[in-house]
Amino acid sequence: MSYQALYRKWRPSEFDEVKGQDHIVTTLKNQINADRVGHAYLFCGTRGTGKTTVAKIFAKAVNCLHPVDGSPCNECEMCKAINSQTSMNVIEIDAASNNGVDNIREIRDEVTYSPTEGRYKVYIIDEVHMLSIGAFNALLKTLEEPPSYVIFILATTEAHKIPITILSRCQRYDFKRITIDTIAGRLSDLIQREGLDVEEKAVHYIARAADGSMRDALSLLDQCVAFYLGERLTYDNVLEVLGAVDTSVFSRMLRCIDGGRFVEAVRLLEEVVIQGRELSQFVLDFIWYMRNLLLVQGSGDLEDILDISAENLAALKEEAQTIDNAKIMRYIRVFSELSNQVRYSSQKRVLIEVALVKLCRPTMEQKGTSLEDQMLALAERLGVLEKQLENGIVVTAAGGAGGAYPGGANMPGAGGAGYPGAGGPGAIPGGPAPKAMPEDLKAVIGEWGRIISDVPMSMGIMLKAAQVAQGADNKLVLGFSDPMHKAYFEQENHKQDLEGAIAARIGKTVEIVPTMLEERKEQTGEFYIPSKVNLSGVDFSFEDE
Ligand SMILES: [Zn+2]
Repeated sequence: MSYQALYRKWRPSEFDEVKGQDHIVTTLKNQINADRVGHAYLFCGTRGTGKTTVAKIFAKAVNCLHPVDGSPCNECEMCKAINSQTSMNVIEIDAASNNGVDNIREIRDEVTYSPTEGRYKVYIIDEVHMLSIGAFNALLKTLEEPPSYVIFILATTEAHKIPITILSRCQRYDFKRITIDTIAGRLSDLIQREGLDVEEKAVHYIARAADGSMRDALSLLDQCVAFYLGERLTYDNVLEVLGAVDTSVFSRMLRCIDGGRFVEAVRLLEEVVIQGRELSQFVLDFIWYMRNLLLVQGSGDLEDILDISAENLAALKEEAQTIDNAKIMRYIRVFSELSNQVRYSSQKRVLIEVALVKLCRPTMEQKGTSLEDQMLALAERLGVLEKQLENGIVVTAAGGAGGAYPGGANMPGAGGAGYPGAGGPGAIPGGPAPKAMPEDLKAVIGEWGRIISDVPMSMGIMLKAAQVAQGADNKLVLGFSDPMHKAYFEQENHKQDLEGAIAARIGKTVEIVPTMLEERKEQTGEFYIPSKVNLSGVDFSFEDE
């Protein structure tokens, strides 16, 4: 007997075998049970999520002579004929290769004849978004007045390409990407039925690599099993076959990026290339690695959804302590963008190297990225400079007498009225500004968002996380939850920088008092407490005393 691919062999033949699309299956079964079947369906969703499989089961169920709870019996003549593809009632059309008007006209002519046996003629049009405009128009005519015995099931991965006139005539069902657990469960089931020997960790890796597609998962399993025929399939075998890398590489890579060690990062990438690993997969796996780090940082209760081994989890937890989550989020963003570019590129390695340069040297990131990214990039750049200073490397600030902040670290958009970053607070024209009055403090709080955008970015990030309030003697109280932030603003130069920025905005000198949020709560009576600190910085609302 010739070998049959797993996904063909184990293709579900009834609704209950369809995994991960319960919402759709239930609705369709209900329709069949209640004999309220529609005439046009649109099945949307990424590849391998079960669209055509469900369409075929549905086609069988509506024709089945003895359906069981809305599912086909697979035993009657109709079911058997459809299963053996000899029935004239189920017509499958691949719109990718039959996308012209004539193809659809053929269907239109055909549908005028009622089925010779069974109840419904079911037309399954796969990749329907590939139809030409003319073909869609021809199809529309049929969809407008379909004969009672005709059902159209249109399947597509790109619903946004379907004309609205067609969409409005179809019942739409969105097929979800299948979860890793669901895929792994199905794989384990089939592995058992096939009598294969596969390590559980390997099963999970394949499920994850399939990225929500059951068909891909089964194809990958097929590929791995074929490679190690008759042997136990281990996690390492799977990595080998799929061209993937062990997670220790990711940890090393992340440390290189975090430490700004570009040369080392590129060498590491070269190692990966020499090992013959698939670079698109490498990028995807690295994203997953960083995602796991983020989750571990976020909570200790998520271990069950991290599909990693206990020993990797321990390593991950350790790693999570050493790196800031805002950075990881930025890395994930850069790598997600990269994974799209890399997939179809012949220059995968170069693209990855460019991303590594970007990440290792945040200074090199260009305009066009979001403000948040720019802020983070600059904060990191500052961190790198600080580390270099600690190590005794002299940095000359291009902006001149800017003190701790190298030139160019000012926020974009501050405009002419902005804080004179390079000159420091002493450079405010017109000498020292008059002392603040209570209404001035309200003005400060009202202008808070703009003040944040006037100060250097690293400072702005801390201020965004802080709460402001009016303190005694018309001082401005800054409440921090992070003691490091409070300490930062206790340093005279940072304090002066902020006070300078405030003076530049409202024309008054306001003294700032950094406190911890808990301390401030005790003195609440004396302060104006912003009940809600809006991070966009424009709209602050206050609680009256
Ligand atoms: Zn049947």
